[in-house]
Amino acid sequence: MKARYIDAHCHLHEFKDEDIRSILESLDVLIVAVSDDLESARRTLNLYREYPDRIKPCLGLHPWSVGEVEAPLEQAREIVRLAAREGVDCIGEVGLDTRFVPQTIDKQREVFSIFLDYAADVDAFMNLHTAGTWEEVYNIVTQRGLKRANFHWYTGPHHLLEKLRESGYVISVNPAVKIQKKHQEIVKMVPLEMILVESDGPYQYRGLNLTPLLIPDTIRVIAELRRESEEAIMEAVQRNAARVLRI
Ligand SMILES: [Zn+2]
Repeated sequence: MKARYIDAHCHLHEFKDEDIRSILESLDVLIVAVSDDLESARRTLNLYREYPDRIKPCLGLHPWSVGEVEAPLEQAREIVRLAAREGVDCIGEVGLDTRFVPQTIDKQREVFSIFLDYAADVDAFMNLHTAGTWEEVYNIVTQRGLKRANFHWYTGPHHLLEKLRESGYVISVNPAVKIQKKHQEIVKMVPLEMILVESDGPYQYRGLNLTPLLIPDTIRVIAELRRESEEAIMEAVQRNAARVLRI
């Protein structure tokens, strides 16, 4: 899997088939495709079968889905069985969220634990949602001995970045970095060895239509903010992705 660009966190299953084809035709990108639930996990695997060189599938139950699906614990176990059957070594989007869905946090913790068991078992890469729970999730994944984790669209506390670095974890930078001050601060201070780039598409963020097609421009914005060359950012992303995604 060698592509010029890497989208480290994208809900590819939400795009229409023709949009996926057009994205992959117009940009040399490898897409780390996360799932939200069992149905999207199945679609993500189907897309992977169609584009095996362009997609790395991740299976999971999104913290926002925990309160939406029936029997989330059973569904999480079913997703884990599917991952095991298909030899999937990427889990996501999973994690904990006290900022947008605090009402389901207890159930979220139970669901997350099911995915952590699997990830620890197979040494999986984890694509993590950590809104409001950065420290808690960090403590959990380190305690579980996980070696590969992405704190996607990181806007958490600055002091935690050094701990993430020591543990070998990465953060993926979202195109929102163009306008989101909190994310800009992170991007300016984070060590280069921790940077991946993502779209989190398809999603609307303050007028930004998030899609993998924004990855090249996001690299440009990161380079500008850090006063480094685009080549340096591209090389770092390739190196970091090779390390944590084993691609
Ligand atoms: Zn996401």
